[in-house]
Amino acid sequence: MSEPDFDAIIIGSGFGGAVSACRLAQAGRKVLVLERGRRWTPQTYPRAVDDPWLWDQDNAHRFNGWADLRAFSDMWVVAAAGVGGGSLIYANVSVEAKPEVFRRGWPPEITHAALQPYYDEVGRMLAVRELPDNQLTTRTLLMREAAQACGWGERFRKLPLAVSFDTKWDPERPEPRDDRHSQSFVNAHGRRQGTCVQCGNCDIGCQVSAKNTLDLNYLAVAEAHGAEIRPLHLVHKLEPLAQGWRVHFDILEPDGHRRVPGSLSAAKVLLGAGSIGSTELLLRCRDEHGTLPGLSARLGHGWAHNGDFVTPAFYDKRTVSPSHGVTISAAIDLLDYSGPDGLGLFVEDGGVPNLAGNFVRRRLAKLPCGKLRSFWRELRGLVDDGDPLENMMPWFGQALEPADGRLLLGRKWYAPWRRTLRMEWSYRRSEPVMESMIAAHKLLSQKTGGKPMVPPTWTLLRNLVTPHPLGGCNMGLTPADGVVDAQGRVFGYEGLYVMDGAIVPRALGLNPSRTIAALAERNVDLLLRAEDGRGTGIVGALPCDPDHAAAQGLQHG
Ligand SMILES: Cc1cc2nc3c(=O)[nH]c(=O)nc-3n(C[C@H](O)[C@H](O)[C@H](O)COP(=O)(O)OP(=O)(O)OC[C@H]3O[C@@H](n4cnc5c(N)ncnc54)[C@H](O)[C@@H]3O)c2cc1C
Ligand code: SF4
Repeated sequence: MSEPDFDAIIIGSGFGGAVSACRLAQAGRKVLVLERGRRWTPQTYPRAVDDPWLWDQDNAHRFNGWADLRAFSDMWVVAAAGVGGGSLIYANVSVEAKPEVFRRGWPPEITHAALQPYYDEVGRMLAVRELPDNQLTTRTLLMREAAQACGWGERFRKLPLAVSFDTKWDPERPEPRDDRHSQSFVNAHGRRQGTCVQCGNCDIGCQVSAKNTLDLNYLAVAEAHGAEIRPLHLVHKLEPLAQGWRVHFDILEPDGHRRVPGSLSAAKVLLGAGSIGSTELLLRCRDEHGTLPGLSARLGHGWAHNGDFVTPAFYDKRTVSPSHGVTISAAIDLLDYSGPDGLGLFVEDGGVPNLAGNFVRRRLAKLPCGKLRSFWRELRGLVDDGDPLENMMPWFGQALEPADGRLLLGRKWYAPWRRTLRMEWSYRRSEPVMESMIAAHKLLSQKTGGKPMVPPTWTLLRNLVTPHPLGGCNMGLTPADGVVDAQGRVFGYEGLYVMDGAIVPRALGLNPSRTIAALAERNVDLLLRAEDGRGTGIVGALPCDPDHAAAQGLQHG
């Protein structure tokens, strides 16, 4: 029997995939990461109208841009496509889940205490810190004032962010948010970064590399230890072999608008394609290709939208400038069910990039000296300072919702020959908590003189948009209640793992990336310990070792 091409093939390079690649490569494994999206750089992040903004899963050879926006019937889901996954597009919030959230719906060995060393390690790798006090945005200050006015002052806190700040950055100097004020440095993993200039572009890619994205830490370490990352490789089928796995993919040639089929083998396959990506891939393997017929009947069930909601509020007498400053900076923590009507909420400030300002900046950078350049420079001053949405505060947040969505394959009436990913989700069980979020947003607005405008997508259509999809390949104790076990091992298929947000079995009610990364750290640690007894060295004893469990006060089923 021939040796497999790799020890491990990892599908996707977001939080779950990047952590897995890093730790397996450090342990000396021959690792390949297949990533459907591009390898973006600060020079190629989308800025102009005709830049590649969108990813289309069905036409990925033609549309392989920044964001994958999936429109299901009542739910829109946003995710990134690129080397670094969600870290490229995300708002950098790297917050631990509340200990109470692990009391229900999780395998008993997964507790906050068990995850703590892994949470700490993720925080260290992502160099997480809070916004310095000299850089509080008008949004942060408005939020603090609103929290106090609502009697929630004690619950207001700055959030941990995966951003490199310069405490000397001066908001009072001319053009403070200009890139030239970013300080260049080499990070702990040998990659060049810059410091944050509070430009508000976090969701469209940081042009000064102040975001501590996964390509600059976990993936950088993985590559330094020999891992290979192949962008524009869209995986569509997994096939078990007598020993190991065959992974089938299409290589996307963006200029040629072509797909070139290929396949490679590995002893192990780790899915890190995200809640939607990993669930869709396994659904296709079970229900379309028939290569994994024994996957749990729970596949696709228990999907969570994590209660995301934005309520814009307009202020007559206040300048909020939502495009100034990091996209999210702080939260009001009501997750102990102290939101309106006793529901669990995590309210945040939300920022929006100044798209017009960015377009002008990119044009300006390409122009030679001369009159035209002077004109565009003037224009930049106007669109930069005169933020078109300067009186708007996007109140944002997440909530503890019932996680009752289901992903499945269906057929469209106009294309019955093709199976497409569908979602069954009804707003009804989520309605109370979404109304509680809206009530909180209204109260915060009204107490500070703002007029909230609840989006008609909710009031009329009961549609939601989530950037925080969770679940689909949920953890469980047996195949009757989950797709993977507490270590991410797929029930019934040795050597196949899910390591990303698809395994999170319930809504966290706050930004999930730190928990996804901590779970991946834990599960790769256990995988390595099972193989050679050594693990990653992040903790001294196995979290499922009974002595260790007793010391930590963990429960066992
Ligand atoms: C606008 C926005 C802002 C956000 N802000 C925050 C925040 O501040 N804090 C926070 O905690 N979370 C935030 N999130 C959510 C966060 O990005 C996700 O929770 C996180 O990235 C999920 O990690 P993951 O490993 O599950 O998957 P992802 O990070 O989504 O990674 C999946 C990767 O797999 C690739 N992939 C998918 N399918 C395939 C395939 N078939 N073949 C090959 N590759 C594939 C994808 O391109 C992607 O790179 C935000 C999300 C968005 C969209
Ligand atoms: S605010 Fe601007 S500089 Fe700071 S992290 Fe976000 S994109 Fe980068």
